[in-house]
Amino acid sequence: MGSVCKGLATLYGVFGSIGTIVMSYSLGKIGAVHRADRTWLLTISVFLGMGLMVAMICVALYTLGDIHEQLQSYTFAGRSGLSDLSGLSEDKETKNKRLLANGGWKCPDCGSIHPSYETTCKCGRSKND
Ligand SMILES: [Zn+2]
Repeated sequence: MGSVCKGLATLYGVFGSIGTIVMSYSLGKIGAVHRADRTWLLTISVFLGMGLMVAMICVALYTLGDIHEQLQSYTFAGRSGLSDLSGLSEDKETKNKRLLANGGWKCPDCGSIHPSYETTCKCGRSKND
């Protein structure tokens, strides 16, 4: 999604620039007395106006893509930082079952389920006691 936004930004930038040139070229002829003449004020204002708009939309799209990519990497980092990748969405019972299936252990004192890498329970009892 992030790269789609960046791709759109690039595409918009390219076609927007072409459009700006074409528009200012053809609109600049409006009001000109002779066919070869052009109204430079109109040409320049159309060019600047459209160019600025294209640039702004381009930057906005690109920034959006950047934000999206960063959000994705944050989410990913946050999730892999937890020991279990799907721990955020599953309920406690499912999580406990999965922990036990993956070499986890159950504290004999308080009944808490722990993943295999945890060696001490919150109640103070250690895994290998
Ligand atoms: Zn315990």
